[in-house]
Amino acid sequence: MYAEELEKLVLLQELDIEIAELEEQLAAIPQKIEEWRQKFKKEEEQLALLRKEHQRLKVDRREQEGELRAIEEEIARLQKVLDQVKTNKEYTSVLSEIQRTREKQSLLENQVLELMEKDDDFSRREKELLSLLERYQQEISVKEQQEKQRAGELKALLEQKQTLRREKTGQIEFRLLSLYERIRENKKDGVAVCRLVTDGDRASCSGCSVFVPVYLAEKVKKRVEVATCENCSRILY
Ligand SMILES: [Zn+2]
Repeated sequence: MYAEELEKLVLLQELDIEIAELEEQLAAIPQKIEEWRQKFKKEEEQLALLRKEHQRLKVDRREQEGELRAIEEEIARLQKVLDQVKTNKEYTSVLSEIQRTREKQSLLENQVLELMEKDDDFSRREKELLSLLERYQQEISVKEQQEKQRAGELKALLEQKQTLRREKTGQIEFRLLSLYERIRENKKDGVAVCRLVTDGDRASCSGCSVFVPVYLAEKVKKRVEVATCENCSRILY
């Protein structure tokens, strides 16, 4: 009897929707894991960049500290020269050179001080980022473990549903089942059987929302033969 076959088809449709949802959830898991890993990789790259900049700054700092030492030596040398000058003119000249060198020294000292502060700042940011990365890695590994477990559960459930599907399809009349499969393949939502919705005198297809003519609505209600929507070709019930 068609009415009974149709009932089976409706149940099969429900099962197919469940299966599609399970498959979708399962497929989303590796994507999610990949996203977490990518995010982690980005943070790692950030840290590498920070370290590189820090390294450059340290080189600058060493250079400037070297310059500063040279200036200090120069001042000491000039002091000695000052002790040995014979004339007032020489004395004034050496003194003003010492003065100029001291100005340079003070300028450079400020720069070195600034670099030292930046150096500390870099160290602090590196430490923060590193601990963030460590925490993040732990979180990811826990979440990955959870997701893998969930994937296992979903797979088991999916297998159960697929076994059930094989049983159900074996009980449906072949031609009707083929029609169902054919329609389903052509629909993005995988829905091949849908309810006729009535509102007063009007009836419409719940699959595409298009109006269903009276004669077709009658055919659907009688349930003696297959009735399909004239717009979307889905089987109506
Ligand atoms: Zn339709």
